[in-house]
Amino acid sequence: MPSIVERRSPHEQFLVDRRQRFGDDSCFLCGMHIPVGSTDRTREHVFPKWLLRELDLWNASVNQIDGRALHYRQLTVPCCASCNGIDLGGVEARVRSAYEDGMGAFAALDRRDLFIWLGKIYYGLVYKESLQPLSVRDGDGARLIPSEHLESVQFHHFLMQAAAGVVTWDSSSFGPASFHFFECLDSDIPAQRFDYLDDLFLPIIGIRIGRIGVIAVLQDWGRSEGVQQPQIEAARTFALHPTQFREAYARLAYMSETSWKNLDHLITGKDGTARVMIPNPGGFSGTWDWKAFATRAAAAWEVPEAAIFDGSTGMSTIGGGDSPPIPVDSMDVVFVGAFSGAGLWPRANVVPE
Ligand SMILES: [Zn+2]
Repeated sequence: MPSIVERRSPHEQFLVDRRQRFGDDSCFLCGMHIPVGSTDRTREHVFPKWLLRELDLWNASVNQIDGRALHYRQLTVPCCASCNGIDLGGVEARVRSAYEDGMGAFAALDRRDLFIWLGKIYYGLVYKESLQPLSVRDGDGARLIPSEHLESVQFHHFLMQAAAGVVTWDSSSFGPASFHFFECLDSDIPAQRFDYLDDLFLPIIGIRIGRIGVIAVLQDWGRSEGVQQPQIEAARTFALHPTQFREAYARLAYMSETSWKNLDHLITGKDGTARVMIPNPGGFSGTWDWKAFATRAAAAWEVPEAAIFDGSTGMSTIGGGDSPPIPVDSMDVVFVGAFSGAGLWPRANVVPE
């Protein structure tokens, strides 16, 4: 039987009053009890309001796991006034200012701020979906994502307490995530200026906002940043088309999945604060399996696997390695599957001749 000590969360072991709690009565970040009517209760937008306005997403919608549409502006989680206004508010202001200053400033953001900003979107979406009933008519029914999955992101939630300064790690130039920055093509058409990708079973997220594309592997402590992969290296040399950004995401997700390691974290605590020793994450390893990659790429491009994989080899829209890079200068370019001619996302409606 596991001992009580082993079953305690890092929150319980090191933090005095901050807990991972679920449900609509708790602050998603610190766990404070804030039922409806409480003066401390606010709603935190998972995708920040300034971003929704900047990208004209206020009235746009996102599809949930079950296919139901939810407006971005309704994507909020319960949050206490202190977490919302003070701890997350400061991070939000710095990220917004960097976004307005452009790619260079965004890529130079403090890694702790970036981790909290991206990590909040990732965790906020999971939290939000955990609150949605499976059946519209059955308000008390099973949730879209069972709380067991939320518990599996417990360590991520623990690291997010860095927002309040109660969890720290060894270096401020580094963080619990790897960050990959890609300059992207921008557009005058709002709907073309935004993309978001994540994975339920791997802590990876990709977000494209205007010219800025960033893909973060949330718990690998910089490990994937040094990856030498020809297409990823090529992707850093020109502004990516939306189809190419999705390829970069699929490649990093595939590589992260194949070489994922659950790292052991050494944590020390004092007076309600915790310090995480950066584990040695080791390098990326593993061989390239076109079939496994094609599964991820086909999902990202919203085409059948056969459109992009012929049974032994796949394709790239980015180029690199033995092939020249493939920069394009307009979002109007349509990339097609090498083996069927089907249009790749966002032109998945292009039918092969
Ligand atoms: Zn809170």
